[in-house]
Amino acid sequence: AGMYHSHGIEVYHKPRSYETINDAGFNLQKLAWIEHEKESSPQPFTRVRVVSEVNEDIVLVEHEDGSKEEQVAKNKVYMMNPPKFDHVEDMAELLYMHEPAVVHNLTQRYQKNDIYATVNPYRYLPIYSTEIIRHYRKKRRGEAPPHIYAIADHAFYDMLHDKENQSILITGESGAGKTENTKIVIQYLASIAANGSNGFGPDYTQKTKLEEQILQANPILESFGNAQTIRNNNSSRFGKFIRIAFNRNGDIRGAFIDWYLLETSRVHTQTLEERNYHIFYQLLNADPEMKAMLKIDQKCPSDFTYTKNSNHTIQGVDDAAEYNKLVQSMNIMSISVQEQIEFFRIIAAVLYLGNTIVNNNYSRVEISGYESACDILGVSPVLFKKHLLEPQIRAGNEWVSQSKSPSQVKDNLDALSKVLYERNFGQLVSRVNAAIDGPKSMEGMSVSEGERFIGVLDIAGFEIFKINSFEQLCINYTNEKLQDFFNQNMFVLEEKEYKRENIFCDESFDYRNDLQPTINLIESIKNPIGILSCLEDECVTQGTDERLLSKITEQNISNSRFKQDKYNEGFSVKHYAGEVKYSTAGWIERGKDPLNEHVARLFAESTNAHVATLFKDYATPATPTASLAIRQADIRKSLYRTRKGGGSFHTVGYKHKQQLSVLMSTLRNTHPHFVRCILPNDRKRPGEIQPQLVLHQLRCNGVLEGIRICRVGFPNRLQFEQFREQYKLLAPDLIANIRDHRKACQMLLQSVPGLQAHQFQIGRTKVFFKAGILGDLEEQRDLRL
Ligand code: ADP
Ligand code: MG
Repeated sequence: AGMYHSHGIEVYHKPRSYETINDAGFNLQKLAWIEHEKESSPQPFTRVRVVSEVNEDIVLVEHEDGSKEEQVAKNKVYMMNPPKFDHVEDMAELLYMHEPAVVHNLTQRYQKNDIYATVNPYRYLPIYSTEIIRHYRKKRRGEAPPHIYAIADHAFYDMLHDKENQSILITGESGAGKTENTKIVIQYLASIAANGSNGFGPDYTQKTKLEEQILQANPILESFGNAQTIRNNNSSRFGKFIRIAFNRNGDIRGAFIDWYLLETSRVHTQTLEERNYHIFYQLLNADPEMKAMLKIDQKCPSDFTYTKNSNHTIQGVDDAAEYNKLVQSMNIMSISVQEQIEFFRIIAAVLYLGNTIVNNNYSRVEISGYESACDILGVSPVLFKKHLLEPQIRAGNEWVSQSKSPSQVKDNLDALSKVLYERNFGQLVSRVNAAIDGPKSMEGMSVSEGERFIGVLDIAGFEIFKINSFEQLCINYTNEKLQDFFNQNMFVLEEKEYKRENIFCDESFDYRNDLQPTINLIESIKNPIGILSCLEDECVTQGTDERLLSKITEQNISNSRFKQDKYNEGFSVKHYAGEVKYSTAGWIERGKDPLNEHVARLFAESTNAHVATLFKDYATPATPTASLAIRQADIRKSLYRTRKGGGSFHTVGYKHKQQLSVLMSTLRNTHPHFVRCILPNDRKRPGEIQPQLVLHQLRCNGVLEGIRICRVGFPNRLQFEQFREQYKLLAPDLIANIRDHRKACQMLLQSVPGLQAHQFQIGRTKVFFKAGILGDLEEQRDLRL
């Protein structure tokens, strides 16, 4: 089943939710699931048979393998779906919809290589679909799975038909398949667009130059923004939102890429079994001429501090070939050879910066080996050394040189590398955007008259680790906002449907503001001051991690989503996906502007135009004295301004908050399609599925949250005619001669023993049921068969 069902043969429109034996009615000899007592067990749920009722709340169950009997609370016994529901493509069809049912279905499907599944609660309100995307087996293009195509296809036709911008929001854990699916979507869109709006599916033969360029953006972004991690050999270390603009006819007019949160610490440090960004190894495997040009001839990863402790190669990947592909992509992008060299040079310079040796020489810090970096960057090594080792700082009305410790100098060098790398990456994305340009107005978030876009968001999903730091807070905050967006969508659509059908639903149905306390806790600017603003304040006033923590606590202690940590090492936030404990260690240091002002200004005056451009925001004509004073004063003023207004002083969190707010307002003006990717196992292995891991992700990615929301109100609904057809057996004689379907449904329902008035409502075209009711009716009907 895809997202749309116009043929009208479906059983249900929405999943029933969390039906336990409690909701479903007590039923002996029924098969059911209970939660496995041990969390370490590979199977989160155990199959059981219900043996007898112990009391009102408890039943006796026998494990299906006969191994043992135990007593379980009725609300912990989840009814098992009959075998006819095995492998269903659309989980909305399941009779019982709960955690074990979803995990079971996904596991079964995965084992059959059916990697795409749909959990679409609203058949006629197709607002999201859950895609399980796991396939390590290489597939050729034409054989790629159909469902992600279906989503791309729907987005395309909705855009043309409804004249509305579309978005496809792809989330999931690292390695789950977000980026691969993003590529598939874009390939698909480029293909159908290449064949005009009335094209017949993918045909890769006749693409325009622009379409070809849009496709080549990915290899370029991946070289500079992806790296091998434990989870994924080609892990994106940044988030992206690619908008593709189309004209009225469905021809591609251009594209635009926004990026978020590049992981810069990877440039200087990688954990065991991981690598630095691909580009480092690609350049170190480039042809000798290029290497000579970059002054890294004869060098290999073991020659550089930033690469030597990492994996030097990835199994099955040839970095030299990847380098050639990169150059080819850049050529297609019309990035000239000269420009390519400029982008590559920064990488070489970063490598040399990392090799700078910092020594203590009779209590004076000395550096050596920095000349190559200065040479490549086009700056004076004498000034570089001076600014790095003895930066001028203000002491009262005087300027004095401050001496630094070796570790401070080392940190400064690493910070420079990170900034260089990030700005080079940003510049590269801008350069790609210039090539795939399209309408200029897209930067302003609206496309020109008659044009619409499809935006594809590829962004890290919710993360809960043992130790969660600032990066996790940013990512989880993003996901909280996306989930909120999803909930609001469901709410609005649901509300519309109820209105249309003249159905009354009580307040409890309003889950619009469910996540707001959590979002406030993170992003509120005042009364109380949220986490991000506390951080910004403390960074500006040179605070400490301790002061930050007590400020956050003091301000937010009464927020129900906030929890103090008993060891005082951080705090916990109750996210929709679970409670996450954050450690605040190191936040202030990281939040502060790490850049050495003087060195940055030196770069701004580089003889190398590319380097100067990267730091042009530091190119102030004023004297160092005046400019630093101005910048200090600017810090407070610019706090709530956009990135352009003195961006380098914002903490990462603040910049992210602003970018996110722009993204959200863009998304709110689109028709969204949700894709949830699920990682099957943590070993990068094909054919293996770990149910515990799957369950954990379902809890984090909002699928179960979606199901929870479905329980509120009247989740199951059927057209009158359809309901009558499917359930006429309940009272065949009674309605045989009734011509009006609505009337027939009404009579039928009134005749069902035990069915109460509040459990269903009759709308204009459909009957609506509370969760669990339709399952009872089905059972009663089947008894009559
Ligand atoms: P994410 O972006 O979610 O971190 P990726 O999209 O990079 O994950 O996928 C990780 C790896 O999994 C890919 O490099 C590829 O080997 C494999 N993979 C993901 N999706 C597919 C797919 N649809 N078909 C085949 N392999 C896939
Ligand atoms: Mg990725």
